[in-house]
Amino acid sequence: MKTGVEYSCDAAVEKLDRFLKAKKLRRTPERYRILEQAMAFPKQFVVDDLVQAMATAAFPVSKSTVYSTVDLLVEAGILRRITAIGNGPARYEKLEDVSHIHLLCEECGKLKLVKDLNFMAYMNARKFAAFTTSYYNLTVYGVCNDCARRIKREKSSNNKIKRTTK
Ligand SMILES: [Zn+2]
Repeated sequence: MKTGVEYSCDAAVEKLDRFLKAKKLRRTPERYRILEQAMAFPKQFVVDDLVQAMATAAFPVSKSTVYSTVDLLVEAGILRRITAIGNGPARYEKLEDVSHIHLLCEECGKLKLVKDLNFMAYMNARKFAAFTTSYYNLTVYGVCNDCARRIKREKSSNNKIKRTTK
């Protein structure tokens, strides 16, 4: 796991180097530290998670610095922004991790990434006319087990109340 993170971080550092040089932007230590922390997240994160991770890593930066850096990382093709559901904050993920099935709970917004090798093999082989695929994103909407249990409990306690008040 550790080596995986380091490897993907090296590739991302090179990508950011090229991007900043091409855009004639400054290669500040903040930008590289934020990149490092962003690459260390095993899955999706929001900007607040990254601000927290920077503070924990004893390299505190302002939220606006994190926002602007994350924007750069999206533009550089290192991260991908996932459109927020409802009023929730935008989530980010590494672009290399996008070919997953996303299971999204409509009750609590919890997101789980799963790999389905058969599905991925099918999608990787799938060619579309006059179109080159970079990545795909399938979101399955439903209810997670925690929420399903909670809903069931609420229903049964509501029924008891109804029965006793009658
Ligand atoms: Zn849920």
